[in-house]
Amino acid sequence: MTDSSKEGFLITRRKTLPALSMGIIGMTTRTSQAARQQATVTQIRNATLRINYGGVRFLVDPMLDDQGTSPGFPGSANSERRNPLVPLPIPVTDIIDVDAVIVTHLHTDHWDGKAKARLGKSLPLFAQNDEDAAAIREAGFKDVRVLTEASEFNGVKLVKTGGQHGTDATLKAVPRLGKVCGVVFSHPSEKTLYVAGDTIWNGHVEQAIARHQPEVIVLNAGKATFIGLDPIIMGEEDVRAVHRAAPKATLIASHMEAVNHCILSRADLRAFAEREGFVANLRVPADGEAIAL
Ligand SMILES: [Zn+2]
Repeated sequence: MTDSSKEGFLITRRKTLPALSMGIIGMTTRTSQAARQQATVTQIRNATLRINYGGVRFLVDPMLDDQGTSPGFPGSANSERRNPLVPLPIPVTDIIDVDAVIVTHLHTDHWDGKAKARLGKSLPLFAQNDEDAAAIREAGFKDVRVLTEASEFNGVKLVKTGGQHGTDATLKAVPRLGKVCGVVFSHPSEKTLYVAGDTIWNGHVEQAIARHQPEVIVLNAGKATFIGLDPIIMGEEDVRAVHRAAPKATLIASHMEAVNHCILSRADLRAFAEREGFVANLRVPADGEAIAL
């Protein structure tokens, strides 16, 4: 089979599958399998995502604590508010029913006490580097793998990408922000998906887009801010910069309205995209909302 005929087949399959699964969803085991295989990104809460991709169910950056468990981050915007600001939209048992977990870094809004307590200790779990992997193993996890530029899980290619959790000046002022990563998912029958992680717009993101040409990009866009410093994740202007670098891509905004220091609301990001002419390329899902790829 040539590449082009393979591509034709896959496009046909991609078009047929959603209709099939939507029409008779839940009627037989076979159709529920088909429904399960439809690629989706589900916004859970904060940066926590459920991603069904290439027939594999991934959980990204699980923050599963109950609403209000922890004080706000000291020295950050709105630190009097307790985190998480909002409850989980679906039961934890459903969220953790996955095949593998990806943890982009170990900040508590991406990897918290309840995630450590509730996730199965034998679940395959990907960490950004040896240091994070060691910490996750110390929490009792037995199958911890380090993401590389050539990782793979059950036929899904996972490529680690770079990122920076703030400007150079911010990182100098708050070195404990530390290292972060993103990940690019690819599979012959799926659109290329880039989850950028906790990064601002910068050369890392630009390079990942140029190299992987993702059709769908998840951006942590809540503009988390410490007092007196530049934002440590994307805000509306970073999202616009990503759109300009990948004008055909669908952007999905995550990491919004769930922890105290995120100062950009979903409504304001949407309004900005409307004014700037890229709202058609932007999805801003509510917690619990699934987006079909
Ligand atoms: Zn974060």
